[in-house]
Amino acid sequence: MSRIVVLGAGESGAGAAVLAKVKGFDTFVSDMSVIKDKYKEMLDKYGIAWEEGHHTEELILNADEVIKSPGIPNDAPMILKLKAQGTPIISEIEFAGRYTDAKMVCITGSNGKTTTTSLIYHIFKSAGLNVGLAGNIGNSLALQVATEKHDYYIIELSSFQLDNMYKFRANIAVLMNITPDHLDRYDHSMQKYVDAKFRIAQNQTPEDAFIFWNDDPIIKTELNKHGLKAHLYPFSAVKEDNAIAYVDDGEVEIMEPIAFNMEQEQLALQGTHNLYNSLAAGISANLAGIKKEYIRQALSDFKGVAHRLEKVARVGGIDFINDSKATNVNSCWYALQSMKTKVVLILGGKDKGNDYTEIEDLVREKCSALVYLGLHNEKLHDFFDRFGLPVVDIQTGMKDAVEAAYHLAKKGETVLLSPCCASFDLFNSYEDRGDQFKACVRAL
Ligand code: ADP
Repeated sequence: MSRIVVLGAGESGAGAAVLAKVKGFDTFVSDMSVIKDKYKEMLDKYGIAWEEGHHTEELILNADEVIKSPGIPNDAPMILKLKAQGTPIISEIEFAGRYTDAKMVCITGSNGKTTTTSLIYHIFKSAGLNVGLAGNIGNSLALQVATEKHDYYIIELSSFQLDNMYKFRANIAVLMNITPDHLDRYDHSMQKYVDAKFRIAQNQTPEDAFIFWNDDPIIKTELNKHGLKAHLYPFSAVKEDNAIAYVDDGEVEIMEPIAFNMEQEQLALQGTHNLYNSLAAGISANLAGIKKEYIRQALSDFKGVAHRLEKVARVGGIDFINDSKATNVNSCWYALQSMKTKVVLILGGKDKGNDYTEIEDLVREKCSALVYLGLHNEKLHDFFDRFGLPVVDIQTGMKDAVEAAYHLAKKGETVLLSPCCASFDLFNSYEDRGDQFKACVRAL
């Protein structure tokens, strides 16, 4: 019996272990940190051996194949040892893909993945298709493949998932955009990050579809370098030569494979970035043969995803918006761009090598004050203080930041939490950061 070792026992690792066990492998799970109780219970239920708090080398280096959780860096010591001895290392998605012949709709990009993935799932589900939602959202693909049967999977793929994918084939691949992110995990090489994103199209055939934002400068220059075989479906905010989906005179138009149109005003998600998300989702649904009326209905009644430009409350005439998921500069750019009032921006956290030049103009144009929220705000001071806006430095936590923003904001303005940074200096996760923001706003 061949041996599978799963490194990391979060949603993806625990699910991969269950699938490995169900498929008859000698399965072992090892996690350097403490495993959450719900995953321990899952592993125990299937009789899977596990360890936590350390890696026991002799139980890992004897693996025939290793499934690595996306959170573990490629240069972690154990990964380097496995690589040195030639053990194949794959991702959970790669593994799960071997055991299903469902159609795979896969979404990647630097921003908009979760929104687009959730929106595509919403359309497919509303149309009555037998569809599973996987990747970074909900239950892992592996667990669903082990325990359920779906005709379609809508899968959000991070570059870390893609890093360890080799044979997996996406029937429909969506590449939203590419802007610098996670460069600390790619030797600070943009090209390596770009290559990881394009892995979504590897193994695609001419029967498959590759949907992408036609105006992304990086995708544009990279498109011809990756030997794409799939049929191309470029989308754009405006009608332009090779785009097959765009907005023309207030109408969303999708030309292929089946002509589709609806009024832009009817879209549930507003803002330019969300138009891209709606176009990508509309094309995916169109490719799956979903009827126009279902697509129109679902694009207009989608409820949105928490922590992405989520309206929280209006207090004293000031709107509070939670965009905690804006963990890089580009997503904050789109958030600021979609604001219709002056903004008190709360930003800061764990910096991933940010270049704030991208939002310089929008901050000057739209912001009336800034609140820096993080343990180390020096970089923010260095970049933004010279703009001459009122600035408050908060190193304690969300309550103080919300109160400071509330005092700075004038009636009719918006307080926007769109941090440009990861949350791990003061919070457990971006969800924790957003939840605390919402609680503090409601307590004002
Ligand atoms: P991801 O899963 O790629 O992180 P999300 O859908 O969770 O993307 O959105 C993350 C952030 O990016 C949010 O702040 C959101 O407002 C912004 N955003 C959403 N869609 C796009 C897009 N197409 N382009 C740029 N920014 C986007």
